[in-house]
Amino acid sequence: MEVTRCSRCGAFYTSGGYVCPKCTEKDNIELSTFKNFVEKNGVEVPSLNQISISTGISEKNLNRFLTYDGLEGYKKLFK
Ligand SMILES: [Zn+2]
Repeated sequence: MEVTRCSRCGAFYTSGGYVCPKCTEKDNIELSTFKNFVEKNGVEVPSLNQISISTGISEKNLNRFLTYDGLEGYKKLFK
């Protein structure tokens, strides 16, 4: 069984996924907030720092979201 350290709270867990089960819900909410924000802003996408200020999601988490499956396209926006 693979043990992973949650990048949100630091807890160890074995259930797979990007974060521990406790943080999954919060992570999903922030992820969809981030996606909605980017979609609304379209090509005029602000920097991660500005998104962090506008959405209240930490830059650390935003950077983490860019490594998620399905967000490959987003990565290009913030180069
Ligand atoms: Zn966690």
